[in-house]
Amino acid sequence: MDLYEYQAKHLFGKHGVPVVPGAVCETPDAARLAARRIGGTTVVKAQVKTGGRGKAGGVKLAKDEDEASARAADILGMDIKGHTVHKVLVTQAAEIAEEYYVSFLLDRANRAFLAMASVEGGMEIEQVAVEKPEALAKVRVDALEGCSPAKAAEIVAAARFPAEVADQVADVLVKLWDVLVLEDATLVEVNPLVRTPDGRILALDGKVTLDGNAHFRHASHADLVDVAASDPIELRAKALDLNYVKLDGEVGIIGNGAGLVMSTLDVVAYAGEEFGGVRPANFLDIGGGASAEVMSNGLDIVLNDPSVRSVFVNVFGGITSCVEVANGVKFAIQILADAGKPVDKPIVCRIDGNRAEEGRAILLEAAIPGVELVETMDEAARRVAELAAAGK
Ligand code: GDP
Ligand code: MN
Repeated sequence: MDLYEYQAKHLFGKHGVPVVPGAVCETPDAARLAARRIGGTTVVKAQVKTGGRGKAGGVKLAKDEDEASARAADILGMDIKGHTVHKVLVTQAAEIAEEYYVSFLLDRANRAFLAMASVEGGMEIEQVAVEKPEALAKVRVDALEGCSPAKAAEIVAAARFPAEVADQVADVLVKLWDVLVLEDATLVEVNPLVRTPDGRILALDGKVTLDGNAHFRHASHADLVDVAASDPIELRAKALDLNYVKLDGEVGIIGNGAGLVMSTLDVVAYAGEEFGGVRPANFLDIGGGASAEVMSNGLDIVLNDPSVRSVFVNVFGGITSCVEVANGVKFAIQILADAGKPVDKPIVCRIDGNRAEEGRAILLEAAIPGVELVETMDEAARRVAELAAAGK
């Protein structure tokens, strides 16, 4: 989960990384009050989860509260790379002598972390990496050893920070490492980290990506979830305790077991090529017990997605018997009809494994309109892709 700048800075402050205080505002009036309280020149900054806000006109200086209110009015509602600005951060403006770049990120390929640092911060770091790779220091950080003061000094030396800020930057690096580890983040980035004319070091921007798998360890992170910006179908699925990920295709997928569902996505995408590039609309793993209730919740979620044109139910009965699965599908369709949401899109079922014959017999006998039974996974994928293409 990516955080907004103001949320990232809140975590920075918690771990002692120097930031300037500010206020998050949703209206020009609130920005005026914040600027009055802060006093002097302020910066009004669009809060959107994308970089390059400065270039897009989403970061503006304001010399007094009137200007702060006017800049907030300009920025609120702006579209920055497809993100609408609903909030601005108003902070005290810092004077900048130099702009630096520092980050830690999870380096999966090397089973370690990577520290990156440059004394040429401010502009997009991808550009520095391409145009002046020698100006971007990259230092491996062992996951178990972490960023000790000695490691931080090594990073500072590799990036050739000026001697007068070396100790301060090293100290910031150790604290940013704390943010990464103690908050379970996979990325912590500061661009720019600045030196003020009077020699202080400040994090003027912040980017943090939290590891969703560690969410349960951080009660306080629940507040960071941006409900308004999340996918509404994913939110509903979460509330129903279903493992759902929205994708951008047309074939709804329901399966049991993450491995099976992932291979189902592959076979559907492959079969879909023959039908003009039909693709999976979602990942949905209903897990072990495919009861009628779980199946109806799953079908309900998948069918609620307006881009879905056909649904593939791909279940391999292991501990769960196919008899339960077949009854699950049958009753799920009935539950939805009773709830005034009759299933109006074709469903292709492939059920195999434990008591498959009996399960299939149940569905054949029920003869539910729009529900087809196909024997193999590949054939079923082909059929469901064909139905999605026909539904265009
Ligand atoms: P980004 O463009 O999305 O990365 O947004 P940043 O927060 O990095 O801001 C972009 C640029 O605005 C920075 O590189 C600075 O040059 C400038 N900026 C941001 N905050 C301040 C500030 O407090 N004072 C001054 N003088 N410039 C600032
Ligand atoms: Mn930035």
